[in-house]
Amino acid sequence: MSKLENFLSNLEDFELASFYHFRFNSFLKYSKKIILNELKRRNIEELEVNKYLPVTNEKIEEDIIAEKICPKCYSNKFYSSNETESILIKFETYDYSEKYKTCLICLYSQEKINHDKKRKTLWNNLSAILFLKNKKIIKS
Ligand SMILES: [Zn+2]
Repeated sequence: MSKLENFLSNLEDFELASFYHFRFNSFLKYSKKIILNELKRRNIEELEVNKYLPVTNEKIEEDIIAEKICPKCYSNKFYSSNETESILIKFETYDYSEKYKTCLICLYSQEKINHDKKRKTLWNNLSAILFLKNKKIIKS
């Protein structure tokens, strides 16, 4: 059994539906076939996948607020990773590390969204510092 087959077989029906809905088109032919096979195995018609997508309710709203489930596809399957990235501005490098929690089903990541926002701010701040340094307003 391939990794993808194994992963799909462990999903709930609504997760498989979300996985298909959000990500099917990003897969190559061979993987698409695996996804379609899994739908078939569960007697889910490809054209009716949307019927299996979860509908929001009070419990779901609460779990989203408590960050127990993904706000986009309502799955609770996440993976966490640590990423460090270096931002090089002129000749100076700034290391910037961040913890990511990403949804395995739809790849949603609030941390990533926050990070991109923060990164923009960081970038602007660094640019401002370097600008001031160049102007010799700040001594390095
Ligand atoms: Zn998700």
